[in-house]
Amino acid sequence: LSELLNDPSLLETRAYVGGQWVEGDKGTFDVTNPARGDVIAQVADLSRAQVADAIDQAYEAQKEWASWTGKERAQVMRKWFDLMMANQNDLGIIMTAEQGKPLTESKGEIGYGASFIEFFGEEAKRSGGELIPGHQRDKRIMVMKQPIGVAASITPWNFPNAMITRKAGPALAAGCAFVARPAKETPLSAIAIAVLAERAGIPAGVFNVVPSSSASETGKEFCENHKVRKLTFTGSTEVGRILLKQAADQVMKCSMELGGNAPFIVFDDADLDAAVEGAIACKFRNNGQTCVCANRLYVQAGVYDAFAEKLRARVAAMKVGDGLEDGVDLGPLINREAIDKVQEHIADAKAKGGEVILGGEEHEMGGNFFGPTIVTGATQEMDFATDETFGPLAPLFKFEDEDDVIRMANDTIFGLASYFYAKDMSRVWKVAEALEYGIVGVNTGIISTEVAPFGGVKQSGLGREGSTHGMDDYQEMKYVCLSV
Ligand code: ADP
Repeated sequence: LSELLNDPSLLETRAYVGGQWVEGDKGTFDVTNPARGDVIAQVADLSRAQVADAIDQAYEAQKEWASWTGKERAQVMRKWFDLMMANQNDLGIIMTAEQGKPLTESKGEIGYGASFIEFFGEEAKRSGGELIPGHQRDKRIMVMKQPIGVAASITPWNFPNAMITRKAGPALAAGCAFVARPAKETPLSAIAIAVLAERAGIPAGVFNVVPSSSASETGKEFCENHKVRKLTFTGSTEVGRILLKQAADQVMKCSMELGGNAPFIVFDDADLDAAVEGAIACKFRNNGQTCVCANRLYVQAGVYDAFAEKLRARVAAMKVGDGLEDGVDLGPLINREAIDKVQEHIADAKAKGGEVILGGEEHEMGGNFFGPTIVTGATQEMDFATDETFGPLAPLFKFEDEDDVIRMANDTIFGLASYFYAKDMSRVWKVAEALEYGIVGVNTGIISTEVAPFGGVKQSGLGREGSTHGMDDYQEMKYVCLSV
């Protein structure tokens, strides 16, 4: 892997704690390339005591960092952003090697991830408080915004860079220190961010990366250590629930970006070609392994067959392969369990009357490769109606009218992203209002940007990442009442 890099020093395998590069007390764990199955690195496996040490270092560094002016913090964050962009290609290669997504997508993620460092660095200068007219003649009321303190993150493997920067950007901008526990499948991207943090001049202890093979051990330390004042998690609703329960013991502030089960609705007045393109972007990006991927495609009866055929033709032309090769649209899935889940959903749909019109099988490349799949005749009784597939399976549900589809779309415990295609303006307003989701894409399948608030309702999470509101999750409000 290092031969492919312009700057091989980005391929670091040690942890970054208190400005030092450290080995793991528990030795190392393997990182595998999901496209080829070979071990590409052995990464420091930190013990719980070492995670506690990282929290101590962050705790010590945070006060000084918070005393910097917003502009000073902005300047080093800008430098950090510039370094990420200057190394976009190398960071992309490292990501594809450990995660599997096509290199163009990896580079896209580096740009997206870096944008949170840029955006929140700028916000650091602007995040002021408030003066409120007093409630009595002698009273003056001031509201200050202060950093919460040490923020700890647990992040998944599907976006090895951006899931960390989305949290570290606002945290550092607010004056918090940060301890990141990357997914064990994709620690190299996280450590590479730390290499660049050091080069950018982020002070020692302000940004730490603590890889470990045991997520639950690190999660417990984050929740039980009183020096951690904020837990920020992206992952499944199942693990989010565990962490929220653990964090309750010290009433810790939590941000949770959890699972989704995104509906993607195509009304009969939609531009069908645009809807097909949107569905491709939304369903098959990262091979369906994102929490905002369309999981249920509802298509109105009048355009159902036409949409199915157009989508089938378009998906059939997508190229499956090693993400480092040119022209590949779909990489491997992350591991065998991911393939098992897709296969279970397909088998369940077939048993309940669904028809596979494309794919449905492991790809001829073997390993973790799976053929992109379309199922028609999907119904609310099938497993994917309630459970996120997280893979390249597009089930097409047929619906008759607007009220019906809104009821079906909302019939889930999740509420992260939703999408629909329609032209009629009153329908656009009505449906956008009726969808019980934190995010609605109208006539678009791509909604992620650092300038908008990303987050879910219902069991999809708590808090928002991105936009000026994204700082709130890392700040406390302090009300000062002054009698004059
Ligand atoms: P995904 O399916 O996206 O990996 P998970 O919720 O299983 O979603 O995992 C998200 C992250 O949470 C991963 O880094 C995983 O290692 C970590 N994790 C899993 N179980 C726990 C736990 N009990 N405590 C803390 N972190 C956990």
